Amino acid sequence: MGRGPSTTPPRRWRWLGGALLAAGGAALLADLWGRAAGWGALGPGDRRVPRVALTFDDGPGERTPELLAVLARRGARATFFVTAPAAARWPEGVRAIREAGHAVEAHGRWHLHALRLSPWREWAQVRWHPRAAEPGPHLYRPPYGGHSPLTRLLARLARRQVALWDVEGRDWTAAPAADLAAGVLAQVRPGSVVLLHDGPAVTPELLDRVLAGLRERGLTPVRLAELPPRPIGLREGLRRLRASYGR
Ligand SMILES: [Zn+2]
Repeated sequence: MGRGPSTTPPRRWRWLGGALLAAGGAALLADLWGRAAGWGALGPGDRRVPRVALTFDDGPGERTPELLAVLARRGARATFFVTAPAAARWPEGVRAIREAGHAVEAHGRWHLHALRLSPWREWAQVRWHPRAAEPGPHLYRPPYGGHSPLTRLLARLARRQVALWDVEGRDWTAAPAADLAAGVLAQVRPGSVVLLHDGPAVTPELLDRVLAGLRERGLTPVRLAELPPRPIGLREGLRRLRASYGR
C-alpha cells in the first residue's frame, strides 16, 4: 500500500526544526547563565573589605591620557580591558596604562557579541590577550558580557577567566557626569566592580566625581586582581538576573 498525502512536514524538516530550536534554546540559556546571572564568572570581591575595582572597557584610545591623568591626580589604580584593534592602533596607550601601574586585560580580538562569532572565531576571540606571553592569570571580559553556549568552555581551554561587574557606570548614555556619578555611588559597595568605558567624553569627569565619592566613603580603588574578584555564586547571580530584567 502506498502512503497517502500527509499534512505533517517531511521527517528531515522536522529534524532541522528541532535542531534549530535546540540551538536557540542553548543560546538563550548560555546568555541567561553567562551574561545576565554570570554564574561562575568572576564578579565582586569580599563585601566586608573596603576596596572597589574600577574597570574601563573598549580602549585604549584618544581618551586614555585623560583617564590616566584623573587616576594619577587621585592616586587611584584601575584595570583596562582592551580590544585587539584598539591595542594595535594605540600601542602607546597600552604602554602608558601599564607604566602608570594599572592592569591590562582582554576585551576580545573583535568587539562583537559572542553569538555573532563562529566557534573557531570565538576561540580566537577568547584566546587573544594583550599579555598572552606573560604569566597569568589572564582575565577576559566578553564584549557586552555576551555569552554563547561555548564561551565558558573556550575560556577554560584557553586558561582565561571570564570577568564581569556588578555596578554599571552607564557612561554610554547622554546623562550628565554628576547624575551618572550619583548613580554609581548609590550602588557601589565594598567589593564592587564598576564598569566604565575608555572612550565616552563624559567618563573622565564621571571618574573624578566617583573617585571623590569613594574617598568620602572610605573605599579604596584597586586593580581588579587586588580586590580580589570572586566567582559569582547563586545569590549574587540571582541578584544580577533581577537587576538585568528590572530595567
Ligand atoms: Zn565593550
